[in-house]
Amino acid sequence: MAADGSDQIAAAVADLAAALPEGLAPLAELAYNYRWSWTGGDAIFSAVDAARFARLRRNPVALLRSSPRSVLERAAADHHLVARAREAVEAQRADLGRPAAELGGGQHGPIAFVCAEYGIHVSLPIYSGGLGVLAGDILKESSDQALPLAAVGLLYREGYFRQRLDREGWQREAWTPVDPSDLPCVPVRDPAGRPLILPVPLRDGEVVVRLWRVDVGRVPLYLLDTDCDANRPADRWITARLYVGDRRARLDQYAVLGAGAIRALTAVGIEAATIHLNEGHAAIAPLELAAQLVEKGLPGRDAIDRARRTTVFTTHTPVPAGNEVIPDAEMLTLLPSLPQRVHMALEEFLALGHLDGGGGFGLSPLGIHMSRTRNAVSRRHGEVAREMWRCLFPGVPREEVPIRHVTNGVHLPTWMAPQMRALLDRTLPEGWAERSDDPEVWAGVEAIPDAELWEVRNSQRRRLLADVRKRALVERLRRGESREYAESISTSFDDDTLTIGFARRIATYKRLHLLVADAFRGASLLHGARRMQVVIAGKAHPSDEQGKGVLQHLFEVKKMFGSTVGIAVLEDYDVELASLLVSGCDVWVNLPRPPMEASGTSGEKAALNGCLNLSVLDGWWCEGYDGTNGWAIEGASGTGAIGSEEQADAADAGELYSLFEEEVLPEFWGRDDGEPPHRWLDRVRRSLRTLGPLVSATRMVRTYAREVWPRGD
Ligand SMILES: *Cc1c(COP(=O)(O)O)cnc(C)c1O
Repeated sequence: MAADGSDQIAAAVADLAAALPEGLAPLAELAYNYRWSWTGGDAIFSAVDAARFARLRRNPVALLRSSPRSVLERAAADHHLVARAREAVEAQRADLGRPAAELGGGQHGPIAFVCAEYGIHVSLPIYSGGLGVLAGDILKESSDQALPLAAVGLLYREGYFRQRLDREGWQREAWTPVDPSDLPCVPVRDPAGRPLILPVPLRDGEVVVRLWRVDVGRVPLYLLDTDCDANRPADRWITARLYVGDRRARLDQYAVLGAGAIRALTAVGIEAATIHLNEGHAAIAPLELAAQLVEKGLPGRDAIDRARRTTVFTTHTPVPAGNEVIPDAEMLTLLPSLPQRVHMALEEFLALGHLDGGGGFGLSPLGIHMSRTRNAVSRRHGEVAREMWRCLFPGVPREEVPIRHVTNGVHLPTWMAPQMRALLDRTLPEGWAERSDDPEVWAGVEAIPDAELWEVRNSQRRRLLADVRKRALVERLRRGESREYAESISTSFDDDTLTIGFARRIATYKRLHLLVADAFRGASLLHGARRMQVVIAGKAHPSDEQGKGVLQHLFEVKKMFGSTVGIAVLEDYDVELASLLVSGCDVWVNLPRPPMEASGTSGEKAALNGCLNLSVLDGWWCEGYDGTNGWAIEGASGTGAIGSEEQADAADAGELYSLFEEEVLPEFWGRDDGEPPHRWLDRVRRSLRTLGPLVSATRMVRTYAREVWPRGD
């Protein structure tokens, strides 16, 4: 019996299939692999019971388990559904049965990918934002390219919080327990059939972790979980919640993730050729690997060297607060035996995490010191990261600091809406999506007639607005607003009106407040026949009072404008809402304070859907913008002699309003009634044509597979 969990997946499929009527058995096999979520499976599960599926956050295992017999019998009698499910399972088996692709240089891997969060699907709430969604997209794209990848993360039993806004606009957080046995998730068992339990050294003792497996196409995702009977009650809580405010709890998570990942890989029989640390949270992993090599008899120095040659590191954070620094003493209490296990003197060990000679132990410096290659996530971020970390490479000129970049991308089959996908499937060459990194593949976009492109844009906008109306109505009633006000949403949003989207984590550097920096000027954009309407969403970190204040202020401005203007602030931004917004909006606004945006990916998702970017030049947009395919704000500097942050904010807000007034509104509305907006659609075609090859994860993952994942030795 394999100890990698694949037998448990098969057993869970068989159990579920046995409980289903004849004919629906293929659905069980689909349900236990998230591959369905990007290959058209949504329509299959919705055909069983669309309302129940939506209510269960599109969790197919829960759908099939909880549906009454009569519902399942009715689905089993639907020949069309049964045939589609059978075809989908055949396609899945063929995909999983393909031989693995080679990495650059003919190498075979396997690659172990380690990250603190994964945004795979709305039913698996183990992500908070961009980092997790990127990690999820890397797994999906690697599966599509048949690359030899396995992933490790943490199973948060309460996930990230669900957001509610009260009547005054203050954020309220609620954590809801997730039972992994309700998900397409199985416990990994040892060869004797017992749940696998791994000891992980922590502070002056150890904790044990359980291991779960979730299949993402061909890629197994292993999730570590300390909620085990054998642990002390407080230790069972370690993996309860994502990004907790308390530092001690966070450090415990990093130790469990770093050391646990290495032990989990060993336990499931994966000897990784390369370990990819996606951000610093997992930076303890190479040290644990070195400790294991020492235990096998390698001298300490050789073990460290081998661990370093096995590790690659991606940094995602130009924001100083995002790079956690731990006081030395606390680092030593977290993992007291580690220096001795890798045969290092204390000072030498601590130097691995030091900037220049002290100041605490940083996880990013540790990742940089303990890896053979390091990369930032956009060209601009590469420049910033080389400057930021040049102190780790004394004597090396800034341009030669060994940190390169691989610009982030997004998984096209996940993020392109069905309408746009169908249009491009009709228009572009056969197999285009698998070659979406090739600019030539996109050339056919130029020939799409205005009428067809406009119909796709209109239908995606209608789909979004139908959802906005539904959500806003319920959210308003739940807050105790009057029914009259709640219902006004149905008329304040119009299906054919220019729709602007802004949704992201409400971190200070994202500058949501610029949207309402000049409420008077903003108000005039929201009135008249040729106006715009705005949809906003985003969660503030639970301990970020300033971020919550920004949301609350937005609410006040919205109230001041009255119920006739089209502004909606929606609750609980997640991958499902993100998907609706990036496909349905006409313009996607991003206002980071440069150079704080490492890459940004929501604008890349927008680009795949014919939604135009209007963004400060930062992150990926520095590479994407060419003067014709969206709009750019130069981004005033908020430092030193040039001016204060407030002045920079005011300048950027002014530019934002001017672009709306002088370019966006006239271009959208500059047409006769009933006519499509020709200039606008020219820009949409330019956007698809020029940005498609850049933003698709196909390009990103090919680059990792060719240039980062192969070993040099
Ligand atoms: C894509 C995505 C993000 C990342 O967006 P940014 O552009 O980096 O702000 C965050 N949250 C969700 C839910 C997403 O889908």
